[in-house]
Amino acid sequence: MLYCTVHPTVETTLRCNKCGRPMCTRCAVKTPVGYRCKECVRNQQQVFYNATPFDPLIQGLISLPLSAVAAALIGLLGLGLWGWLIAFWAGSAVGVFIADIAHRAVGKRRGRYSWLAVAAGIVLGALPAGLFVGFSIGWLIYIVMATSGAVGRLRFGGRIRL
Ligand SMILES: [Zn+2]
Ligand SMILES: [Zn+2]
Repeated sequence: MLYCTVHPTVETTLRCNKCGRPMCTRCAVKTPVGYRCKECVRNQQQVFYNATPFDPLIQGLISLPLSAVAAALIGLLGLGLWGWLIAFWAGSAVGVFIADIAHRAVGKRRGRYSWLAVAAGIVLGALPAGLFVGFSIGWLIYIVMATSGAVGRLRFGGRIRL
């Protein structure tokens, strides 16, 4: 009988098909090439990041003006209940849109901090718009929805299909 490497008290019959270590069902991750331990999966994902050090900078700079325009438009509309609904729906869509553009702008290379750069660009870009059209609730909803939309799009890299 084998014991899980991470949980030495848990008996198991599973082994990671990459490094061969025994692992329990809690530690096993199902991948397209079979069950692997969390460490091997993590290493695999690290190799998958292929961005250059400048990519996050480029992505932040691209997100900024796009977000500024969107925040100004949505901020102007974002008065009253309908405005909030528009901000809620459009904010998320704009976030995904900006994330896609930022992703393409760097040749679809994946960076560990792309999501952070784009999120920063979205928030910083929205600030002058807020000063200009007022810090409305619609404007605030836009920031939250756009940021989470973009982060969701970029952060879970493997699931992005463009
Ligand atoms: Zn392994
Ligand atoms: Zn375990």
